Amino acid sequence: MFRLRRKNYKMDIDGVGEVTVKEFSTSKGMRIIVHRDTSVTVTLRPGIAKNKVECFVRQHSAWIENAKKRCARRAENSPVPTSKRTVDPSELLRLRSSAKQYLPERVRFIAERFGFRYNTLKINRARTRWGSCTSRKNINLSCFLMRLPMHLVDFVILHELCHTVEMNHGTQFHALLNRVCGGHEKELNRQLRAFRID
Ligand SMILES: [Zn+2]
Repeated sequence: MFRLRRKNYKMDIDGVGEVTVKEFSTSKGMRIIVHRDTSVTVTLRPGIAKNKVECFVRQHSAWIENAKKRCARRAENSPVPTSKRTVDPSELLRLRSSAKQYLPERVRFIAERFGFRYNTLKINRARTRWGSCTSRKNINLSCFLMRLPMHLVDFVILHELCHTVEMNHGTQFHALLNRVCGGHEKELNRQLRAFRID
């Protein structure tokens, strides 16, 4: 059987820095990983052109920046925030600004990809839920989403977009959500529950 040769290489991308690109024949889409030491890896299937990879990374630069800061903070061994704590105003500012840079474009992209239609998108500072969707298809997302790994941000966005079709959490909603997240709804829900919004 023909086996695709795996190829790893490094790229230096403006505004992001060094990125290690790793090709896996089993990769489906492109995925960005920010490691604990703040190094960045992109995994993808073999044969994707370098300029496409660069474009993808640039589109996610706000998210990467945020993930790097999160890792840096973790490395400093700062205490894990607990419920009801006050959010440092400068952190809130940072979360809001990266959310405003990242989320509108991301929601647009995901909605287009799966054929969802929504009306407006607002970014708030809710600390009780990651997102919500009204019957008029207005989506609200919490800026605290920017603390989540990128694939879970996408999962929350998909959840809210599914509400533009199914307003409740009935069987049809879950069937739809499970379909658009490749049959991984349960697993992603489990991962999301590991994160506290506050
Ligand atoms: Zn919901």
